[in-house]
Amino acid sequence: MSRQVYLNGQLVPQEQAMVSVFDHGLLYGDGVFEGIRVYYDKVFLLDEHIDRLYESARAIRLEIPISPEEMTAAVADTVKANGIENGYVRLVITRGAGALGLDIRKTSNPQVIIIADTITLYPQEIYDNGLPLITASTIRNHPAALSPRIKSLNYLNNIMAKVEATDGGTIEALMLNHKGEVAECTGDNIFIIKKGVLMTPPNDAGILEGVTRYAVMRLAEEAGMEVREVAMTKHDIYVADECFLTGTAAEVIAVISLDGRQIGSGKPGPITQKLLGLFRELTKQGSFD
Ligand code: PMP
Repeated sequence: MSRQVYLNGQLVPQEQAMVSVFDHGLLYGDGVFEGIRVYYDKVFLLDEHIDRLYESARAIRLEIPISPEEMTAAVADTVKANGIENGYVRLVITRGAGALGLDIRKTSNPQVIIIADTITLYPQEIYDNGLPLITASTIRNHPAALSPRIKSLNYLNNIMAKVEATDGGTIEALMLNHKGEVAECTGDNIFIIKKGVLMTPPNDAGILEGVTRYAVMRLAEEAGMEVREVAMTKHDIYVADECFLTGTAAEVIAVISLDGRQIGSGKPGPITQKLLGLFRELTKQGSFD
């Protein structure tokens, strides 16, 4: 079925949704993006995603030509035009077409693209049995290079780590930071549970601050759990009672081993399952308020 894609203020059939081959998004990965879920006709945690998009853009000195309010309305229009009740929205902002060189002053017309589509979910088997994880040799971007806090179109580092995962027969890989600490996975944040305390690496471990990460931390706190953002090493994962990943596509997925070493009972743990349940309840609401 032909989708209607939002492109610079207009909904156009997907075949007509095109950008220039001189766009710096294509030439240099110069741009930012967001991935958002639609559940039960509602765009999930849209404000949080819009905030992150504008912060990512600001960090790379890209001025998005429309306001956050206009972007919010455009997302709603695109979802509606495609009749998406449960699906996925991809927002892409590129630097726009320019000269064959890095100078952003020679670019013009940032492209604003919104795609609303269905989503292929992870197989139920992964939720039932959990995920084996491997550690990638590719480390997460050094925070003093391209900050991992920016959701930029430059994902090659994470793509190379994901290749290591698929070569290793699984779908996600743990990425360490330049200090050898646990950062996150290629497209998901990581959590452990130890003696009832929920722990996840802090911002300065070099992570993308996941919207799902935020939601799960908030749900855990509201459920009376202690939540800590702490630097951790692989040792902490090996000795954890439970481990799980969070992400827009993944939601909450249990991790049962790391590099062949069993974590906890080797099955999705009770707290992980409880948090997945709370998260799925939140998806029915659409937001915290
Ligand atoms: N880390 C990285 C590197 C990501 O690309 C993503 C998004 N897929 C996440 C974490 C999870 O973020 P969110 O919960 O906002 O999807």
